[in-house]
Amino acid sequence: MRFSITDYSKSPQDKGWGHGWPVDRSADMRRVKADRSGTKVNVHKRVAALIDILLDETERRGYKLHPEQCGGFNNRSIKGKNVPSRHSWGLAVDLNWNLNPETWDGKAHTDLPSWVPQLWGRYGFAWGGHYKGDHRDPMHFEFMGSPDDADDMTALARHSVTDPPSAGKYVVKSGDTLSAIAARLRIGGGWQALYNLNKTVIGPNPNKIVPGQVLRLP
Ligand SMILES: [Zn+2]
Repeated sequence: MRFSITDYSKSPQDKGWGHGWPVDRSADMRRVKADRSGTKVNVHKRVAALIDILLDETERRGYKLHPEQCGGFNNRSIKGKNVPSRHSWGLAVDLNWNLNPETWDGKAHTDLPSWVPQLWGRYGFAWGGHYKGDHRDPMHFEFMGSPDDADDMTALARHSVTDPPSAGKYVVKSGDTLSAIAARLRIGGGWQALYNLNKTVIGPNPNKIVPGQVLRLP
């Protein structure tokens, strides 16, 4: 990744996204939908495919989104400041705001498993649960790159975020190892999690899996 997801010193305008609030960018927005919950958010068209993939992957891996607690584009300033919110560019999404509230006590109050910010981070999104100082906003994920970076991250996600095989199962192929499968399917907890779930199928040696074995996925 050629940009930083922790550097907030540049605004989206500095990165080539044009003006934010109070300019109305709604014509640039596209609606994306998380397939399992039906959650819909409006986001900038240049990050729409990427966010669509990440919402679906987040749900596929077991984190449930609540449609009435999620949002994207919102033409507003940062609360209490004369500075445009990243939501005014459509570059940020808020996920499950009642469960991941904004606070100023230095702690992230969140039900997000750690793999969620890790997953989004891999594709260029900063997480509000990682803010410095006392402010935490764990509902908030924002894209930190330029428009060209968004295209790159979309291509990467298309290539590397895998759709589920059928219904949480995986059939072992020749040459597979547990760690390779875990990496490819981005399984939280890695090969150990995969092994623990499938010990009865695999037996005592996690290095020995055979083609045709059907593994359950966490
Ligand atoms: Zn937000």
